[in-house]
Amino acid sequence: MNYLNEFRNRTVVTGFAERIRQLTAGRSEPMTFMEVCGTHTMAICQFGIRSLLPPQVRLISGPGCPVCVTPNSYLDRAVAYCRLPDVIIATFGDMMRVPGSSTSLMEERARGADIRIVYSPLDAVALAAKNPGKRVIFLGVGFETTAPTIAGSILVAAAQGLDNYFVLAAHKTIPKPMAVLAADPELRIDGFICPAHVSAVIGAGAYGFLAEEYHIPCVVTGFEPVDIMQGVEMLARQMLEGKSRVEIQYSRVVKWEGNKKAQEVLSRVFTPCDADWRGIGNIPGSGLEISAAYAAFDAAKAIPVEVEELREHAGCLCGEILKGKVAPDDCPLFGTTCTPEAPVGACMVSSEGTCAAAYKYGR
Ligand code: SF4
Repeated sequence: MNYLNEFRNRTVVTGFAERIRQLTAGRSEPMTFMEVCGTHTMAICQFGIRSLLPPQVRLISGPGCPVCVTPNSYLDRAVAYCRLPDVIIATFGDMMRVPGSSTSLMEERARGADIRIVYSPLDAVALAAKNPGKRVIFLGVGFETTAPTIAGSILVAAAQGLDNYFVLAAHKTIPKPMAVLAADPELRIDGFICPAHVSAVIGAGAYGFLAEEYHIPCVVTGFEPVDIMQGVEMLARQMLEGKSRVEIQYSRVVKWEGNKKAQEVLSRVFTPCDADWRGIGNIPGSGLEISAAYAAFDAAKAIPVEVEELREHAGCLCGEILKGKVAPDDCPLFGTTCTPEAPVGACMVSSEGTCAAAYKYGR
């Protein structure tokens, strides 16, 4: 339990709480810090971090859950593919219950569609190798953490000469939406708790422009209570000193330059593209599409399909929640019409969704 107990030590956590309280004492204006990682959102709720902070420090959740930020149009296309007779859809389990415009993959599987839950994109490659008469489409959803493994699966499929493995890619990169939110005058973000896993790949240096151009303090923070409390203290200190720089609290994992190998695999297979984010809209250069050299593996290009007309879920505030403008409690459907058992929106489905976290730990 080394490296776990130490980072959950009650005395250390309350020590940080006291230092933060002393630092912010006498402030009338609250400091607003946003986390942009679903695992942080879950950890903040699970460990009751908000209850340890003084009223001057406000934590809000941003677009940190990759499943949640994936728009309905992507789900609708996946559903259209699963209805083709020679297609097997392979996906991580968290996509199964996300509602598209009129149905979910779970419902489609109950109606007979061949949809398999896999634990690695390489399982999907193996599925394609075992089923030469079928087209296997892997649902490529995730940030910079997940994208290298999916890029790797395309490289493996290419090396094996497979012509029936495809990826429906909706990968997104985190720094650009952070800039959009940083510039939003309604939010007035005073600091970012930068993601841990993503930063292990892209490196803390990727947030430098937020500190320089937007003058927002950034701290790459780990997931344990001690990590988060220390990250908040570091943000508060920067703010009170009138500084804006990128700091690494999670130095046992994250380096300034990131993981060069993962970055190299990413840039071999993917190129930047514009991407639609649920709630935020289209952000130029914030997505990753399969590059021309590997276009044969790109389901969106290689397999035409008719997709149903897009519909949003009436009353669901996921879009505003993903921008940090409202909290789950502000949604009239939270905990009544919308629950993890019967989710209306993606934020209640995903294990990293803000509404799911609030439902599980905050009620
Ligand atoms: Fe959408 Fe449900 Fe969250 Fe409301 S509680 S915003 S309906 S996911």
